[in-house]
Amino acid sequence: MIQPNKGRKIGIMGGTFDPIHYGHLMLAEQIRTSFHLDEVIFIPVGKAPHKTLSNAAQKEQRFEMVKLAVASNPYFTLSDIEIKQSGTTYTIDTITELQSQLSKDDELFFITGADAILLLESWKDYQTLVKKVKFIGATRPGYEKKVLEDKIRVLEAKFGAQIELSVVPALAISSTDIRERVDTEKSIKYLLPEVVESYIHENFLYKKHHERFFEFKQILESTLSKKRYMHSLETAHTARKLALIFNVDPLKAEFAGLCHDFAKEIKGKKMQSLIIDFGIYQDPSIIATPNIAHGEVAAGILKKEYGVMDEDILDAIRWHTYGNKEMSDLSKIIYISDIIEPTRDFEGVEEIRKYAFMDLDLAIVKFFSQCTPHLEDKHLKMHRYTTEMVKQILDSQERN
Ligand code: ATP
Ligand code: MG
Repeated sequence: MIQPNKGRKIGIMGGTFDPIHYGHLMLAEQIRTSFHLDEVIFIPVGKAPHKTLSNAAQKEQRFEMVKLAVASNPYFTLSDIEIKQSGTTYTIDTITELQSQLSKDDELFFITGADAILLLESWKDYQTLVKKVKFIGATRPGYEKKVLEDKIRVLEAKFGAQIELSVVPALAISSTDIRERVDTEKSIKYLLPEVVESYIHENFLYKKHHERFFEFKQILESTLSKKRYMHSLETAHTARKLALIFNVDPLKAEFAGLCHDFAKEIKGKKMQSLIIDFGIYQDPSIIATPNIAHGEVAAGILKKEYGVMDEDILDAIRWHTYGNKEMSDLSKIIYISDIIEPTRDFEGVEEIRKYAFMDLDLAIVKFFSQCTPHLEDKHLKMHRYTTEMVKQILDSQERN
C-alpha cells in the first residue's frame, strides 16, 4: 500500500485529451477518492502522438476542452506545462519540473490507464521516471487485468517501480472512438461533458473538411453579420448531415452550406451591377428584388475572385434561393438546409425538417406549398426557375 506522508498528495493525469471524455474524468475522480488525493492536475501533452492525422485538434483546443471539463470539480486543476512547449514533451521532464515547483514533501501519483502501463517501457528514461514517482495503473476495457498485473510485477521487480493497480468502473470510451463518431455524424452525447461536446461542434473539430473550409469560415466571420455567420455555420452542419444520409460528398455539402450566403449582404446598386456583370437572367422577380440573385452572384464571385472551381459546389450555391429544374442532390441539400437549419423558426418548419431527412423532393414541395401564399400576400413574384423546379419534381413524382 502506498504510505501517506505529511505533504500533499497530488495526482497527475497526463493525456492527449483529444478530446477529454468521461473515461478520463471518472478515472481521475475514482483515484482521487480511493487514494485520498488532495488534488488531481490534468496535464494535456504538448504534441499529440497522432497529430499527423488531418482531424486532430490543435493543442490549444485540447487544453481549452480540458479546462471546460474540469471546471466543475474543485479538486481538479489544469497545467499548461507541456502545452506551452514546442515540440515533443516527455513525462520525465514534466515530472522533474513539477517536482521543482512543488513542496519537497508533496507526493506525486501518476495516474494512467492500463494501455499506458503496458507501454511504459517505451517512455523516455522510464527507469528513472519510475523511481521518481509512484504510478497508479487503472483497469480499462479492452485490457485484461491479469496482463496488467503481470506487467506491473515485472516493472516492480526489474526497475523497482511502485505501481498500484486500481480497478475502476469499466467505461469503454476512447478519444479515438469519439473522433470517429464526430466525423461520421454519430452521437457523442453522454460520452463526454456537454460543454466539451458544444466546443467540438462550434469549432468543427474532428471532421474531415474541404481543403478551403477554414479559410472561408474566417472570411465569412469577418464579412457577414453575426446572425448570418451563425446561420451559415448551421447550414453547413445541416448540409453535412443530409449529405451523409443521401450519399452525397459531405465535404462539398458542408463547404457549399458554409458559403451559400457569401453575397447575401451585398445591397442596392452594387448588387444590380453584379447581376449585369455576371449576365444573370433578369427574371421579373429579380428586377423587383435584386437581392434574391445573391446565390448566382456568390457563385460568380467565388469562381472569378476566389478561384473556387468545383461546379457541383458552385451550382449548389448558385441555385439555393430560387432553385432550378436541373438541381443535383447536392443542390437540393443546400436549398433545403438553408430552410431547415436549427436556428430557423417559422410555422411549419418542423414538418419540413422531418421530410428533409427522408425525401429531399418532398421537403422542397412542402416548403413551396407553404411559401406560395406568403408571396402572394406580399404581392411578391415567384422566380420562373422556382415554378419550373417544382413542376419538374411533381412531374417526376407522378411518373414514379
Ligand atoms: P486516444 O484514443 O486518442 O488514444 P484515449 O481515450 O486513450 O485517447 P488518452 O488521452 O490517450 O485518451 O488517455 C489519457 C489517459 O487516460 C491514459 O492513461 C489512458 O489509459 C486513460 N484512459 C482513457 N480512457 C480511459 C477509460 N475509458 N478508462 C480508463 N482509463 C482511460
Ligand atoms: Mg490513448
